[in-house]
Amino acid sequence: MPRRLLERPCTLLAVMMYVSLGGFRSLSALFGWDQGPTFDYSHPCEVCTNLSRLPGAPIASGSPPGPQALPYCPERSPFLVGPVSVSFSPVPSIAEIVEQNPRVEPGGLYRPAGCKPCSGTAIIVPHCAQEHHLRLLLYHLHPFLQRQQLADGIYVTHQAGNGSFNRAKLLNVGVREALRDEEWDCLFLHDVDLLPENDNNLYVCDSQRPRHIAVAMNKFGYSLQCPQHFGGVSALTPDQYLKMNGFPNEYGGWGDEDDDTSRPPTSVGHYKMVKHQGDKGNEENPHRFDLLVCTQNSWTQDGMNSLTCRLLARELGPLNTNITVDIGTDPRVPGLPLVPDTHLVLPKPSVRRCAAPS
Ligand code: UDP
Ligand code: MN
Repeated sequence: MPRRLLERPCTLLAVMMYVSLGGFRSLSALFGWDQGPTFDYSHPCEVCTNLSRLPGAPIASGSPPGPQALPYCPERSPFLVGPVSVSFSPVPSIAEIVEQNPRVEPGGLYRPAGCKPCSGTAIIVPHCAQEHHLRLLLYHLHPFLQRQQLADGIYVTHQAGNGSFNRAKLLNVGVREALRDEEWDCLFLHDVDLLPENDNNLYVCDSQRPRHIAVAMNKFGYSLQCPQHFGGVSALTPDQYLKMNGFPNEYGGWGDEDDDTSRPPTSVGHYKMVKHQGDKGNEENPHRFDLLVCTQNSWTQDGMNSLTCRLLARELGPLNTNITVDIGTDPRVPGLPLVPDTHLVLPKPSVRRCAAPS
């Protein structure tokens, strides 16, 4: 059968073209599946590689230059190393991470010295009771971001309240609070348990469309699990985020709150996911499919423009800005009228239902 196929002129022509074009890689590039450059993940660099080489202070000649006078940072940062080693233990302490990242300012802010960064990127991390994961993320992410020579800040939104974990609402709050601080060019929505493995994966936005970043996770054999998937790590400009009205606040629990958005192709996006099981307090939302269908109609009413919640605390930590919000009671099912959050009762810490640190 293969022989007969090969004897057909058009099949033969196709095979010849395939080979002369460089096989699957070029063929997939032809169809827009960007495989990206090849990296050797078997020899990763240390997490803190090149940090000591970063310029320490703005170039001083007379008075320090204002931001306008600075040249742009090189398009490709000279400090990038490619694959970096990612490990889950030991979990470093906050003090250790601070010591290794002396150029990170309170609130988790960083700005390259001596040049104007090509992007100001805010990283929003929804979080509830995943302390170890959070420390691992900060440990891996800060050196990664500094090597990219972007201006960046990490915002961790902590959920308080007795409701199921509500990633969508935490993201909306994080975005709102980050944009209060600065006119960020780019917003990265970042799960706490995803650790980037390659610093060529630049944390910048595509001005044309939202980007899905975590496209190759160890959990799925480093291949894209589902082309419609937009979760894990994704990037949007504030304009894009506000245009789509953020995420529906009514998505509590796990499931599909971020699968109803388009995903552009990406080429470099290796992540290791910190091992965890389905988290207690983040059970599958039984209404998630109803909600997904409803989103097609309700997105203009449910999102950033209807976001109401109680901000309990906002504090500059040494490695990130902490935002604590009262998410309230269990999420409401579609069809029920919206209740203003001012009716919600402040939860006692003992009734928190999030997963315990693993
Ligand atoms: N999350 C959290 N505490 C929880 C559940 C979820 O902090 O109890 C956050 C955390 O950022 C996590 C993200 O929500 O990475 C997505 O949840 P999870 O990793 O459980 O979902 P997955 O996509 O792995 O199924
Ligand atoms: Mn996860």
